[in-house]
Amino acid sequence: MNIGVLALQGAVREHMRSLEAIGVTALAIKHPEQLHEVDGLIIPGGESTTIGKLMRKYGFLEAIGAFAAQGKPLFGTCAGLIVLAKRIIGQGGAEEPHLALMDITVRRNAFGRQRESFETDLDVSGVDEPVRAVFIRAPLITEAGPGVDVLCKVNEEIVIARQGHLLACSFHPELTDDVNLHRYFADMVKQSGIAAG
Ligand code: GLN
Repeated sequence: MNIGVLALQGAVREHMRSLEAIGVTALAIKHPEQLHEVDGLIIPGGESTTIGKLMRKYGFLEAIGAFAAQGKPLFGTCAGLIVLAKRIIGQGGAEEPHLALMDITVRRNAFGRQRESFETDLDVSGVDEPVRAVFIRAPLITEAGPGVDVLCKVNEEIVIARQGHLLACSFHPELTDDVNLHRYFADMVKQSGIAAG
């Protein structure tokens, strides 16, 4: 099983290291054609406007849309969550969505300046152990459609959600040695492979 990490901007190496730590072959995806070589894809944290611009420039919007339409799992972390969302709220109000795949509304930089970054342990539905999470200028999911399962909340706000083969979290799971969430995603990828025969 191979899992790709979209390598346009952001925390790419760290995700690859976490995948390798659980015995998954990780590929840095720099061209849309490389998507044929992977069974699942992580869209990392970084800066969502930049990632969105580069995705448009290199033809990734269509290619990842087609990838997801085949039922192949996607995992968006922090800026990657913003890239997956159907509705984005920024400083100046609504922004144009990027992949627009997940039925969620996301508010960017939702924690404000006082809490630009912090680290905490999370209790996540479907994961037995606590998940160590690093939040950096993190977004929050303010609304989730009926097909979306909420896997974790912090102060009543949604920080991990899943919609079928789409997984998203508002923090950086790759900046610690905790690989629980990567293992959860790898299981989703494994299951989708079994379902596809
Ligand atoms: N604040 C960033 C954005 O809006 C996301 C932050 C991150 O990925 N650490 O794109």
